[in-house]
Amino acid sequence: MGDTVASHVNPDRVMLAENTRKEVREALQSGSLKASIIPIGSIEQHNEHLALNTDIAMSTFISQQVALRLYPQVLVAPPCQVGYSPYHMARKGTLTLRKETLRAYIYDVAESLRAHGIRCVLVVNGHGGNGGILRGVFADWRHQLGITMDEASYWDQSTDADREGILQGYRDLRDGKLDTVARQTALNHAAEDETSLMMAAYPQRVRSFTMEEYDAADLDYANDLSPEVENYLRPFGREGWPKGGNNPENPRDRARQENAMLATAEKGEALLAIHVRNVAGKMQRMIDATEQGLPWPPAE
Ligand SMILES: [Zn+2]
Repeated sequence: MGDTVASHVNPDRVMLAENTRKEVREALQSGSLKASIIPIGSIEQHNEHLALNTDIAMSTFISQQVALRLYPQVLVAPPCQVGYSPYHMARKGTLTLRKETLRAYIYDVAESLRAHGIRCVLVVNGHGGNGGILRGVFADWRHQLGITMDEASYWDQSTDADREGILQGYRDLRDGKLDTVARQTALNHAAEDETSLMMAAYPQRVRSFTMEEYDAADLDYANDLSPEVENYLRPFGREGWPKGGNNPENPRDRARQENAMLATAEKGEALLAIHVRNVAGKMQRMIDATEQGLPWPPAE
């Protein structure tokens, strides 16, 4: 596997929907096209400063970089923009699918790809809330579709040591400097990590902000949860949105905003290099197993 992205390739070339039927047909006939990636993510609140499409933007960006690195073996299917995010619905602009809608979307796209002869499909996920919904389904889907199929949340294969080497927040966590539960739990969403990734990949989707502006907005999670939203969420079982009293989401939200101040584009590029390398490695191992007729996941 080459260690650099195929810089001579127009990035649109690896996006399935940007190709013509002739181009896809010829890539299949020649055997050069071996696999497809389905990016999934979410449209959900990412604090005061990141665009709602952060999760799907990052999984799509990483999928595209992986496909360029493995060119011409992989085409990226259209991203599934909306994910499973009911617990973010209190914040305006968030959208959510039902679990079964998300599963059905992925299954139907994978079955379409298989019908054209693509025997290897990787779902690249950009939203933590989607992960649990999909883990456990792939064994059945592999059996039903008769293809190599798996999931990779893009941060999955990087380690705490990787993150500590790049992110101040993770070094502070390691060194016991994050003195409240809120500050400890605020690292993974819309904070230094994701903000750095977005500054590197899509700076136009990152707004400037100050903590003074944040505090002046006087945000309160329980107040943001309108009766309409509560009504809408009832079928979801209302998991994860405590009501009344000192809502723990408020200090967490503020800690995320504060942690995001540490973000830089340089950190984002360093993280992206790790994520792209790791996801590409998994995709290539899946392709190799498929070509060799070996089971996936590999036998222990
Ligand atoms: Zn996110």
